[in-house]
Amino acid sequence: MLRYLFDDAPEPGEVYEVCPGVLWLRMPLPMALDHINLYLLRDEDGWWAIDTGIAIDPTEALWESVFDRHLDGLPIKAVLSTHYHPDHTGMAGWLCERFQAPFYMTQGEYFTGLAFSRTSSEHYNWSVPQYQRRMGFDEDYIQQSKERFGGFGPVIRPMPTSFRRLTDGATLCIGKTNWQVVIGRGHSPEHACLYSSALNVLLSGDQVIPRITSNISVSEAEPEANPLREWFHSLEHFLETLPDDTLVLPAHNTPFYGLHERLRFLIDHHEDHLIALEEACVEQGRTALELVPVLFKRKLDGHNLPLAVGECQAHLNYLHQRGQLSRTLENDGCYRYLSVDSTLPQRLRKRHYEADDDSPLQV
Ligand SMILES: [Zn+2]
Repeated sequence: MLRYLFDDAPEPGEVYEVCPGVLWLRMPLPMALDHINLYLLRDEDGWWAIDTGIAIDPTEALWESVFDRHLDGLPIKAVLSTHYHPDHTGMAGWLCERFQAPFYMTQGEYFTGLAFSRTSSEHYNWSVPQYQRRMGFDEDYIQQSKERFGGFGPVIRPMPTSFRRLTDGATLCIGKTNWQVVIGRGHSPEHACLYSSALNVLLSGDQVIPRITSNISVSEAEPEANPLREWFHSLEHFLETLPDDTLVLPAHNTPFYGLHERLRFLIDHHEDHLIALEEACVEQGRTALELVPVLFKRKLDGHNLPLAVGECQAHLNYLHQRGQLSRTLENDGCYRYLSVDSTLPQRLRKRHYEADDDSPLQV
């Protein structure tokens, strides 16, 4: 059983002190997953902001209220984004500009974020419809998505034009506490977590979240990517190197104990998805789009469908690259996947992946 440190969460604009020198606050998100957790770490002459919120209307005013009421008159002296997704980087440029503060990020996240935040409709080319067709989308969908094509520029303030690079194993000394950078992959290219052995606290970003499973997705930008393999490797690495009794401060849901149980659950969850997909491809070849209901039973709307198909594609790439599914490009332009092991239906497997079926998909 996971154990949660709080029964509730701070209201927008309020803070909870999680441990000495570590404040927890929340910013709203305009989707089913309606919040992101941010953390403030106290240094001697100011605060480090860990993640920033998305650039939508209330966020700037909420930040101003935090500056006025919760920082003891000290400035934000550094901004760190765990990864490039807009709920984590949306206000980084604004914060760094307002306080003339440096921006910390890994190289992989910084340049990915810079690229996606500057992508616009003029960057649309043949590779996007080809990828969508291969997943099984029809021409109507492809045309509609062309009209929506673009990066996440509208929900992010321009990213800082310089950064300080975080690398795996590097140490940041904040206040009198050393925080070690621990890199995770799979949800994003080079996600930075921070671990303090003195506090036994992990700032886990989207790499470990207690109630929802992070989106592990392939997109048209890298159709042959294998993020699920990287995700498994990262979770195993965290299991081997971080203590079970670590207090985990995630970017969504609430702070919790039970790190190893959660890591094992996440590994099992995706392994069950892999088995289910193999089973669904025994009798006839199927497309990624046809296989989405194997992983997600609920109806998916416009925002969630690309995340769900991307996650399905991540599992298919993993199985295909391990040689467990064959992949054929057919005359209609679709990839169809077929199980290599035809004895699969005889395998009786307990599946528990339906347990968190209703949780919102992660951004
Ligand atoms: Zn994310």
